Amino acid sequence: MSLEATLRLARAGELYPSCILHGADEVGRRSAALELARTLLCGRSADQRPCGACNHCRRIEWPQGAGGQFHPDFHVLERDLRTSTSVDAARSFLRAAQVTPFEARGQVFAVAAAESLTPEAANAFLKTLEEPHVTSPRNFLLLAPSQFDLLPTLRSRSLAVYLGGGEEVGGDRIASISAALAEPLRAHSRSPNRMELFAIAGALQEAGSWRDPRARRPWEVAAAAVVRASGDRELTPDQRRRLLALAEDLLSGPDLRIRGIQPQRILEGLVHTHLDV
Ligand SMILES: [Zn+2]
Repeated sequence: MSLEATLRLARAGELYPSCILHGADEVGRRSAALELARTLLCGRSADQRPCGACNHCRRIEWPQGAGGQFHPDFHVLERDLRTSTSVDAARSFLRAAQVTPFEARGQVFAVAAAESLTPEAANAFLKTLEEPHVTSPRNFLLLAPSQFDLLPTLRSRSLAVYLGGGEEVGGDRIASISAALAEPLRAHSRSPNRMELFAIAGALQEAGSWRDPRARRPWEVAAAAVVRASGDRELTPDQRRRLLALAEDLLSGPDLRIRGIQPQRILEGLVHTHLDV
């Protein structure tokens, strides 16, 4: 669905409780989220929303730094770890969804990097989405480069709003690498085995071109694939924690490369460090 059509639904009070805003770049996703939030909470009559001038519209801004919140009914969750948005952060964010709005006729909750929600954090969202709201409408806006970066359970309960092409998405590659990781991870979970660790490192090597030692993109794709693979229900909580720690370390890959270490060695080293039991 387009942003225009989504804004019309919001004016009519018929918007889905959960929307995924994907495509564009980060700036584009944030400005779309602000426009939707203003439309949902604006004080003017429906056909004039968002007016951009009322007491609500003017205070709905993207928070700058910690505690920078201007409108009490517009909440933003930024990722709290380098690779992920933790379940603790998600739970404390969702606590605000249990109370009635302070000033506006509803509440809007924006998740800045929904692709980074850990499986537990995504489940906390699903639970909140399934609870009927008691008094007034709540809308959740999940921002992500691609809707396919989100868990299928979240996707199936949300309206996907495509904001147009922007940065290279890489969603397909993340999906194919995380699919390639599933089998060796499960096998390793049944009986720890060094061969599986090499298979895991090998799958991560497909994350992109490693030619440029300063390129961050392949490391980000590898980290995103590991975060996604950690959502597999057949894995133990301990394995999921190990995978999330591995994903964090993958983002330091470029620093190791600049010291002259080959990508294959770095991948194998990190996989062994985190998953060898
Ligand atoms: Zn307004």
